Amino acid sequence: NALNQQARERLNELFANFALSGETPLSNWVDGTLCAGEGELITLTNPATGEALVGYRDAGADILERAVSAAARAQAQWMALTASERGRRMNAAVRALEGHEEALAQLESVIAGKPIRDCRGEVGKVREMFEYYAGWCDKQHGEVIPVPTSHLNYVRHVPYGVVGQITPWNAPMFTCAWQLAPAIAAGNGVVLKPSELTPFSSVVIAKLLESGGLPKGLINIVNGLGPSTGAALTGHDGISKLVFVGSPASGRMIAEAGAQRLVPTVLELGGKSANIVFSDARLDDAVAGAQAAIFAAAGQSCVAGSRLLVQRDILEEVTDRLARAAVDIQVGLPDNEATRMGPLQNRQQYLRVTQMINDAIAAGARILTGGTRPAGLPEEARGYFISPTVLVEVTTDMPIAREEVFGPVLVVMPFEDEEEAIRLANGTRFGLAGAVWTQDPAKAHRVAGQLRAGTVWINSYKAINVMSPFGGFRDSGFGRSSGLDGLREYTVPQSVWVETGTEASVAMGYGSGQ
Ligand code: NAD
Repeated sequence: NALNQQARERLNELFANFALSGETPLSNWVDGTLCAGEGELITLTNPATGEALVGYRDAGADILERAVSAAARAQAQWMALTASERGRRMNAAVRALEGHEEALAQLESVIAGKPIRDCRGEVGKVREMFEYYAGWCDKQHGEVIPVPTSHLNYVRHVPYGVVGQITPWNAPMFTCAWQLAPAIAAGNGVVLKPSELTPFSSVVIAKLLESGGLPKGLINIVNGLGPSTGAALTGHDGISKLVFVGSPASGRMIAEAGAQRLVPTVLELGGKSANIVFSDARLDDAVAGAQAAIFAAAGQSCVAGSRLLVQRDILEEVTDRLARAAVDIQVGLPDNEATRMGPLQNRQQYLRVTQMINDAIAAGARILTGGTRPAGLPEEARGYFISPTVLVEVTTDMPIAREEVFGPVLVVMPFEDEEEAIRLANGTRFGLAGAVWTQDPAKAHRVAGQLRAGTVWINSYKAINVMSPFGGFRDSGFGRSSGLDGLREYTVPQSVWVETGTEASVAMGYGSGQ
């Protein structure tokens, strides 16, 4: 249809602008060169229309091979620079994005179906992350350990070498920069595989970064399906560390692949985060927060506040306010400046979300608002739109109360007291994030301290920053991203012992020299 035709034309212009055009798009960035994949054809659908948008080829084994060896070679060159020079190069590299931000945002908006405003915000994060980690390059001091012998013992934080990274489709530019920046700041080379559903923005980012002065081949982007290119990456002998952002199901496979080769993994997985609203909360803030927590990115956010736990005496008031506020959210086409919520990214996700809503209703839940195609969309927008949905009369045994939906679906459940709120909040397999809304500071800290979640907000939601560690408990994963913790995931401590005594201290037997 005409809407889809427009998107295809826009995409072709953007491909031409970034030099990605080819018989099939040049979907890999390997050793400083763009190249098309050599494997099977992967067709992407336009999230706004549900029609075919573009096809590209899975990378294939040779391209991956070249990527890993380029990363290894470039990593040695990178480490031959001084630490300060690496920092300067990272800062210069990210400045190469200047002038390309809008085109990058548009490219992502077309492919991911994300509102253009959100995509612009994501591009801004790329810069923030590189600048932050550039600053760490020459500040990764080791330590001197006061060992009880005549040795000088010091610890260095050394890079792994080549790290493999795998990212999802919901925030491709954010997750790409989020993992690339600390990896190279720590001195590694990288091979990154983005989601097969959003392959291009990471390629463009890597290419621009290199044009800004990073060594050729330090960052390589290979695109393809999880079971083919993804599995080949996780199983490759040249990879010394794996960092995965995605679903728990795939995360398990990545951890298993890592276990087979004894390669450590970081897993940033999904969530079922709870917003706990006590009756003494400022309700305007709590309702606005709860709404942003779930409907931003159409709920396709790992930290989505998908469960709203409300103290029983304010349940009715909160649900009334929510129902009124939800209909005000502007759902629309991704390229519309006024759009606050776009379509879901793909058909599989759309089917999953609608199925989960239907199953919840069949199990006794009631739709307070939403659950349908949003009003006011052009007829040609036959893609994966779902209006902001709030479900009430939900019980803890329903899958919708326990499993990640990854869509604009909020479940509301009442609680009586603090103890029940904590029990409900901690009552899923996940532990990514959560929030407490109350004006009682002692209660806020008491409850926050008992939540088994990697990030907890008090009278706020979604505040995250590259300076502060982020990650999960339980099925939400392990290891940390962002901040110094995120940097340390990309280095190994090496302990060096130097004899400083006047006599040799090496003797036979365990415990010698102690
Ligand atoms: P997904 O697990 O389906 O895919 C993620 C990536 O893994 C893709 O690149 C995919 O190709 C790859 N993959 C799949 N199978 C593989 C295999 N066998 N070997 C190697 N790679 C494989 O996840 P998704 O649907 O793209 O993303 C949504 C999920 O990501 C949600 O669960 C969301 O909560 C989570 N997520 C988590 C965070 C976080 O920081 N915790 C951030 C964003 C998204």
